[in-house]
Amino acid sequence: MSSVNTAIQLITREQAEKGAAAKGSTCSPALAKGPWDYDLAEALAGIPAYGPGASSADVAPAATPRQGQLPEEYKLASDAELAERITAAKAALGDRAVILGHFYQRDEVVQYADFVGDSFQLANAALTRPDAEAIIFCGVHFMAETADILSKPDQAVILPNLAAGCSMADMADADSVAECWEQLEEIFGTEPDADGRVPVIPVTYMNSSAALKAFCGEHGGIVCTSSNAKTVLEWAFQRAQRVLFFPDQHLGRNTAKALGVPLEQMPMWNPRKELGGNGEQALLDSRVILWHGFCSVHKRFTTAQIDKARADYPGVQVIVHPECPMEVVNAADSAGSTDFIKKAIAGATEPTTFAIGTEINMVNRLAAEYPQHTIFCLDPVICPCSTMYRIHPGYLAWVLEELVAGRVVNRITVDDAVQANARTALERMLAARP
Ligand code: SF4
Repeated sequence: MSSVNTAIQLITREQAEKGAAAKGSTCSPALAKGPWDYDLAEALAGIPAYGPGASSADVAPAATPRQGQLPEEYKLASDAELAERITAAKAALGDRAVILGHFYQRDEVVQYADFVGDSFQLANAALTRPDAEAIIFCGVHFMAETADILSKPDQAVILPNLAAGCSMADMADADSVAECWEQLEEIFGTEPDADGRVPVIPVTYMNSSAALKAFCGEHGGIVCTSSNAKTVLEWAFQRAQRVLFFPDQHLGRNTAKALGVPLEQMPMWNPRKELGGNGEQALLDSRVILWHGFCSVHKRFTTAQIDKARADYPGVQVIVHPECPMEVVNAADSAGSTDFIKKAIAGATEPTTFAIGTEINMVNRLAAEYPQHTIFCLDPVICPCSTMYRIHPGYLAWVLEELVAGRVVNRITVDDAVQANARTALERMLAARP
C-alpha cells in the first residue's frame, strides 16, 4: 500500500492532467504543496508562531521562539537524500536523542520514530529515556508541550515544524476560557452546595494548550484523554454540580451521554457570543457545558459513510473515534480512542472487515499491520491531520542535523508557572479512578 503522501501526490497530479475524470480526491489541494509554503505565508502575514504554553490565538510572549525558515537545501533535497541524511544524523546522535511519532504522523517521518503512540503514551515513553538530551516530537504543538511538562528540565523538546498546531486545540484560547469562567461564576457563584460540590469544574481534553491545562490545575479541574474521559467526568461530578468541558464538544457530548446526561442539559458555549449564546436558566440547568470546538478530521465522518460501508460489506465492524459527531458514534458498532481501535483490531481472531473512523495514516498502517483483515477508512476522501502533516521529512532532517552540530532549533518550553499548574491537572487525571 502506498503512503498517504504518495497517494496525495498521485491524486493531485492526476487532477491536473485529467480534471474531473481523476480517481480519488483529497480534502485540500494545499496538502500537495511543501509545508514551507505555509511558513512563508505566515511570515508575510506577520502572524506570530505558537508561544510557550499558548495556543496560536493567545498573545505570544516576547521571548517566543519563532519558526526559522527551513534552509533551502532541505526543501530542494530528494526523498532519498532526506532519508539518507535523517538516518545518518540519527545514528550520529545515538542515545542523545529520542524521536517520538504520533499515530497520525505520515509514514515518511514515523519510520524513524523510536516510539509510536498517542500523545499521552508518547509523553510517557519519553520518560523511559531520561538520559536523552533531546526529545523530537513528531506530532503537534500541544503534544510537545505535554512532553516538556513531563520531561526533565534539561531535556530539550523539539517540534520539527512550529506550524504543526492542532486546529481543535486552537479553538479554545486562554483569554476566551477565562472570560467564559468569569461569566459562569457571576451566574453560579462560587459556594459549594450541601453535598460540598462546587458549582462548576473545568475539564480540558489533552488536546489543548498548556495554558488551559494550567487553568484547570488552578481552578480545581483536571485533564482527560479520549481513553479516560468517562472516569474523569465521574471524578468531576463527584466534586461539582456541573462541568465546563473544552475544547472538543464531541468527546464531551459522547462521554456525558454515555453517562446518562440528557442532551438538553449540555448547552454549547460559543466564545463569540454573550453567555456563550445561552440563556441564564439553560446554564443553571446544565450538567455539562460544551465548548464550541471540534477536530476537523473527525468531524468529516458521517452516518451516510457508515450506511455505505454496511451496504458494501455486510457484517462490517464499524469503529470510530469519540471525537466524531454523536450521530456517527451512535451508528457505529463501537467507539474509542486510538488505543481502543488498535486493540479491537489486534484482538479479532477471525478475518474481519473493519471500517474505521479516524485519521487515514493510522488506518492505513493498521491495514498493513493486519493483512488478515480488511481495514479501510470510512472517509473516501484522503484527509490526513493537515497540521501534523506539516512535519515534512525536511524539517526532521534539519532539526536532527542542527543537533549533531550542537544547536537546538524549535525547542518548546512551557513557562514554569504554567508547568506547575498544568502538572497538577495532569496528576489529578493520573490519580482519578473509575
Ligand atoms: S487529528 Fe484533530 S485533534 Fe488530532 S491533532 Fe489533528 S486536528 Fe488536532
